[in-house]
Amino acid sequence: MAIIRKSPEEVEQMAASGRILARCHQILRAKARPGVTTAELDEAAERYIRSQGATPAFKGYNGFPGSICASPNSMVVHGIPGDYTLARGDVLALDIGVDLDGWIADAAVTLAIGQVSEIAAALLETTRASLFDAVEQVRPGNRLGDVSAAVQRRVEAAGFSIIRSLVGHGVGRAMHEDPQIPNYGTPGTGPLLEEGMVLAIEPMVNAGGPEVRLAPDNWSVYSEDGSLAAHFEHTVAVTADGPRILTPWHLEDGAEAAVAAQSAGGR
Ligand code: MG
Repeated sequence: MAIIRKSPEEVEQMAASGRILARCHQILRAKARPGVTTAELDEAAERYIRSQGATPAFKGYNGFPGSICASPNSMVVHGIPGDYTLARGDVLALDIGVDLDGWIADAAVTLAIGQVSEIAAALLETTRASLFDAVEQVRPGNRLGDVSAAVQRRVEAAGFSIIRSLVGHGVGRAMHEDPQIPNYGTPGTGPLLEEGMVLAIEPMVNAGGPEVRLAPDNWSVYSEDGSLAAHFEHTVAVTADGPRILTPWHLEDGAEAAVAAQSAGGR
């Protein structure tokens, strides 16, 4: 396994890609309302990404037809945008990839469409928190197992299931680079994290059992038992100062520059 390390300049290029991606997530979050189709979200994403001089990295990847993956309710990942119409109470996972000048950023968010059930709200909160627990471990000297274990700890403490057959990955000029990043693991094991590595960390969690199945379209992955699923993802660089989130969808507009400055300046 060869984990490609990026120079500080290359990390900056990935951060530029990531800022477009974060803004795209914010645009879709505002648009995702009952009555809107996932095709409409896909069109809005593609329009915005191209307006920024970038391209949607998923479009055409292994033949994928959409610019985004839109996966409602018991669908975990890789949903093809189409005529599915959002309804109040849905949860919708949106996964977006942006390619800016050959540098790829990858990030996912699961949205609550209006008021959702208590279990859905807990699933989203837990999965999101597990991502940030994992990000906190992205430091030189830590090992990949520390990242994986952080996800597992949070998710299993809440009684939800880690999907073991789907993993995160390194990212850079290629969408999927080494290493694979499972959402379960043992602290202190696995590859050593070093400055310049860039990881797409993506907890994928079922409210019910951990099994998944592939739909006949050969893309959509569903929870086997039909339970709700959630997916959150950030692209994160290992820096001397610790984790640098390159896809800051969780920040309000305008906060991105402050975070970039903070990362660059050290603490
Ligand atoms: Mg990914």
